[in-house]
Amino acid sequence: MAKLGLIFGDQLNLDHAVLAALDPSKDRLLMGELADEASYVDHHIQKIMLVFSAMRHFARELNEQGWRLDYHRFAAGSEIRSFTDLLRAGLEGRDIDEVVVSWPGEWRVLEQVRAWERELGVPVTVLPDTRFLCPLEDFEGWAKGRKQLRMELFYRQMRRKTGYLMDGDEPVDGQWNFDKDNRKRWPGEPAPPEPMHFQPDEVVQEVVGDLAGVIEGFGEAEGFDWPVTRAQARRALTHFIDKALPLFGDYQDAMHDEQDYLFHSRISSSLNLGLLSVGEACDAAESAWRSGSAPINAVEGFIRQIIGWREYVRGIYWMKMPDYAERNALGNDQPLPGWYWTGRTRMHCLRSTIEATRRNGYAHHIQRLMVTGNFALLLGVIPKEICDWYLAVYTDAYDWVELPNTLGMVMHADDGLLASKPYAASGKYIDRMSNYCKGCAYSVKETVGEQACPFNALYWDFLIRHRERFEANHRMRMMYRNVDRKSSEEVEAIQARARWIKGNIEAV
Ligand SMILES: Cc1cc2nc3c(=O)[nH]c(=O)nc-3n(C[C@H](O)[C@H](O)[C@H](O)COP(=O)(O)OP(=O)(O)OC[C@H]3O[C@@H](n4cnc5c(N)ncnc54)[C@H](O)[C@@H]3O)c2cc1C
Repeated sequence: MAKLGLIFGDQLNLDHAVLAALDPSKDRLLMGELADEASYVDHHIQKIMLVFSAMRHFARELNEQGWRLDYHRFAAGSEIRSFTDLLRAGLEGRDIDEVVVSWPGEWRVLEQVRAWERELGVPVTVLPDTRFLCPLEDFEGWAKGRKQLRMELFYRQMRRKTGYLMDGDEPVDGQWNFDKDNRKRWPGEPAPPEPMHFQPDEVVQEVVGDLAGVIEGFGEAEGFDWPVTRAQARRALTHFIDKALPLFGDYQDAMHDEQDYLFHSRISSSLNLGLLSVGEACDAAESAWRSGSAPINAVEGFIRQIIGWREYVRGIYWMKMPDYAERNALGNDQPLPGWYWTGRTRMHCLRSTIEATRRNGYAHHIQRLMVTGNFALLLGVIPKEICDWYLAVYTDAYDWVELPNTLGMVMHADDGLLASKPYAASGKYIDRMSNYCKGCAYSVKETVGEQACPFNALYWDFLIRHRERFEANHRMRMMYRNVDRKSSEEVEAIQARARWIKGNIEAV
């Protein structure tokens, strides 16, 4: 009798709980490139290339370590489409007394796992996902009894727990958060470092061959340069720490139409696949601060994103699913504009961000939050439609991280569980933080009229439409004071312009 360990495609780390629980001399492993996983949304083609390539590399490593692994390669028309199909085939003709997996990254996969004992008649053990620092029970313990689940409080607890940037019980430099220093516009210099490119190796090329003519996906395959092995991911991390981290904080919120990455790390796809660990990313950043090669605002900002936001959104996801995905607190009813997929809009900020997304499978946080996200919020897009878009278009997108960021942080569809106020902003914010408005067909200075930046009328219209819900929010008082300064004629003109934009959205 033996155990069978199934390794999900986004859990490619040798410290995996399943590997620790199995004995390579008698137990077996199972991995599979599955059609259902490759098609549950219209993924960016680079995401599929990345995941399948990283899986094949990881499978090689497991074989080299002496594991007996059954690996199902993607094949058009294969009957093995889902994890359940894969496991059924893996169990056939074998004396397996237990299946072992680790907690998956998506609710829909957990539902499959929970049905296995009944459907396949085999005991199933689900181990914790050791890629995260905060076990799900600890998150629930933290959340229990709290009226508000503010990230900042969770983050402080994580700082104390991990000891990152701590001086005993106190934060180093006397402050928990240096965010106010991290809001500079990038003035065109210093030049950001060239990101580390990894030429597609023979494994990536093989995957491309297997996908050809079967899966087209969103975006462009050309230009694929993501790390597909742990060694490459480590090199990319070191490159970031040495070259970009020092200015990561200053320009964290900046955007520029000729700089796709500025000083961002591009490590999310590696972290989310298990190629890099949270600990090694944060250790490297803290060492850079301790050795004086990166300032505190950069290092604190970076560590906060990882042990704060990243762990926090995962905790929220698992605590609130499956109902969370259905929420639509603002009652949105607008379809997602078709040009989110093509980039064909006259708004330069959106065109530039979507074109870069098509090219790279990447946009940095502020582009996701304040450009594509903000526009969907102001327009009132149906949450499910915008969530599916975010889940599709980025190489780092998995439900556990995408959903709370989009549905909660961006769309406020969870009624403020995750963010104390919506991140609604007019074109002014985009103009302050980027060079987009200079090259735009619209005027960011105008609110109504044909040439007016659509963000402006939609912003005021959003505040007016949701007045009842938000006017008592103390963080939005100033916004409503500005609404009150508008005459009734101005309000009417704004609403008329917003109606026109909604009615002609594909031409905007
Ligand atoms: C609408 C929306 C959708 C998003 N969807 C995803 C997603 O599907 N997958 C994903 O990994 N991130 C997502 N994010 C968070 C964030 O935008 C990306 O993690 C980041 O842009 C990745 O680029 P980077 O590695 O260069 O990050 P950096 O800016 O260099 O930040 C360092 C790391 O911090 C972590 N991080 C930063 N912000 C967040 C956050 N809000 N939530 C979770 N982790 C964070 C990431 O692991 C990231 O690699 C989303 C944000 C928004 C607003």
